[in-house]
Amino acid sequence: MNEIIVIIICIVTLILTQIGLNVKFKDLKQFKTRNNEKARRISEKFPKDEEMCIEILKMLGNNSNVKIVSNVEYNSCLYTVYNNTITIGKFKENYMKPQTIAHECVHACQNKTILWFNFIISNIYNLFFIITLILALFNKLPFTNAFLISLTAISFIQYVARFTLEMDAMTRAPYIAKEYLLDNKIINEQEIKDLLQEYEEINIIGIPLTNYSLILKNLVKIIVLCIAIMI
Ligand SMILES: [Zn+2]
Repeated sequence: MNEIIVIIICIVTLILTQIGLNVKFKDLKQFKTRNNEKARRISEKFPKDEEMCIEILKMLGNNSNVKIVSNVEYNSCLYTVYNNTITIGKFKENYMKPQTIAHECVHACQNKTILWFNFIISNIYNLFFIITLILALFNKLPFTNAFLISLTAISFIQYVARFTLEMDAMTRAPYIAKEYLLDNKIINEQEIKDLLQEYEEINIIGIPLTNYSLILKNLVKIIVLCIAIMI
C-alpha cells in the first residue's frame, strides 16, 4: 500500500514538472525534422574538434592540462573529472560543435569540489539503487520504508549537484561559442548570427528538457524500487 502511494506521488510529480517546465513531446518531433541546411553549410568551415576545444579552453583560462580525446564510438561529448578528460564523440549535427564543445569546456573549468562531489554521489547513488533493487527482488530488503526514503534523499542530493553543473554549462555555452567564433573569425558575422539563432531555438526546448530528464531518471528509479518491493 505504502509503495502504491509513493508511485502515485512520483507520477504526479512528473506530470507537474512536465507542465511547469513546459515540456511538450510534440516539440521534440518538430525539433528533429527542422530544416537547418543553412547551419549545416556554415559548419563545413569549422576547424578540427580538438583544435576548437584547445582554443576554447585557452579562452576560458583553463590551465589544468585537460586531456582531449576523440572517440568516434561515442555519440556524445563528455567531461570526466577523475581523469580530467574531455571526450569528443560523433556529432549528429556538426553545427552544434561550438556550443557542445564549449559546454564540456565549461565543465572542465567548474568548481572541482562540486565536480568531484557529483562524481562520487552519482556512483554511490547507482550502487545503492542496484543493491537495494537486488535485495528487494529477493525479498531480502528490511525496513523498506527507510530504504525508499534513503533512495529519495540520495536522488535529491545527486539531482542538486548535477543540476548546478548542467545549468551553468548550458546557459554559458552559447555565449562562449559566440565569443570563440567572433575571436577566431572562422565564419562571418551573419553566419555567427544565424548559428546563434539556431542555438537559441534549440536551447529554449533543450534546457528544460534536460532538466526534466534528470528528474525523470531519478523518479523512475524510485518507482522501479517500489515495484520490486511489491512483487
Ligand atoms: Zn553537461
